[in-house]
Amino acid sequence: MHFETRCVHVGVNKDSAYNSATTPIYPTSTFYWDSLDSNKGYDYARSANPTRSALEENIAKLEGGIDCRATSTGMSAITTTMHFFKPGDHIIAGHDIYGGTFRLFHDIYSQNGLTFSFVDMGDIENVRNAVTPNTKGIWIETPSNPLLRVVDIAAVVGVARDAGAMTIADNTFMSPYLQRPFEHGVDVVIHSTTKYLNGHSDVVGGCVVTRDDERAERISYIVNALGLACSPFDAWLVLRGIKTLGPRMQAHERSAMAVARMLEEHPRVGTVYYPGLESHPQHELARRQQDGFGAMLSFEVEGGRDVAERVLTNTKLFLMAESLGGVESLVSYPDTMSHASMTLEARRAAGITENTIRVSIGIEHPDDLIADMKQALES
Ligand SMILES: *Cc1c(COP(=O)(O)O)cnc(C)c1O
Repeated sequence: MHFETRCVHVGVNKDSAYNSATTPIYPTSTFYWDSLDSNKGYDYARSANPTRSALEENIAKLEGGIDCRATSTGMSAITTTMHFFKPGDHIIAGHDIYGGTFRLFHDIYSQNGLTFSFVDMGDIENVRNAVTPNTKGIWIETPSNPLLRVVDIAAVVGVARDAGAMTIADNTFMSPYLQRPFEHGVDVVIHSTTKYLNGHSDVVGGCVVTRDDERAERISYIVNALGLACSPFDAWLVLRGIKTLGPRMQAHERSAMAVARMLEEHPRVGTVYYPGLESHPQHELARRQQDGFGAMLSFEVEGGRDVAERVLTNTKLFLMAESLGGVESLVSYPDTMSHASMTLEARRAAGITENTIRVSIGIEHPDDLIADMKQALES
């Protein structure tokens, strides 16, 4: 089956009672047993729920994994994977990863005895040089946030294998439609399903996808033991969202490319960060590693914070809001919004300035988005 067909069909047929075309929501905490040693495969909803299982089967197939656990948020998916490690273990991550991930690693797990190196993973030598005898994991996020730096997944996997470390990829920005880290040798893939997988800005969720039995079992155990699974209602919404993932990603990308080209020509705009532009330093790598360029982009507006604020508050179609990956376009200011959980020092080191504006392109018509962004830039 082709990708778009899998989006629509895998996992969804779970109604032998009435043959409904869509997956029923099973809002139950418990399931009754038929005898002392038999039930219908479910006993308690923290461990498993049929609606959630449908979503998990679907996402596992889209990523090319063997198993998936759907969690309450993207952060709980990341939390789950941190339980692969024990005190003393060292993990390498990008210096420009998602702000909430940075906070979790830097503030919480550092207190619990894990150690981290945050490096510019755009250059593979930095990753290699950060390896220590205790390195047990390498965290991959590509393209990065908010400056859309592309990390060479296969090269990082090579360094990890030499070091005997596992690799975990946060594939939120691309979705499996545009990038499948397992194909490049990654061990575990996570998502914030809040973003493109659900795609409609009406749920927060996450998932962890595995490709081998041992890690699949471990993830399942941790999600149950920690109580991180998502509700059947949320699972149902994400499963519904995924059915249109392919056509949505195409529409997102078409508009993103058009807006990026307009911004690149605009006199009030400095650097435009979008891997689809030939001017992007890793355009060739993105072309090789991804099936498209996605719909996240950032740019530097000339003039500092006041000018940036004017642009951000004068857009009419673009909502000024955090998050990304929904059908509606959003603009945000990483310095005080998505990346406020990083220190000022860490933000500047990652290249986020007071001129940086981040954009999540929705699926509106590109001409309307261009007209709106232009009038905001010229206001
Ligand atoms: C949003 C996001 C997360 C966190 O997900 P939540 O659903 O908000 O908990 C993690 N990684 C990336 C890349 C994200 O964009």
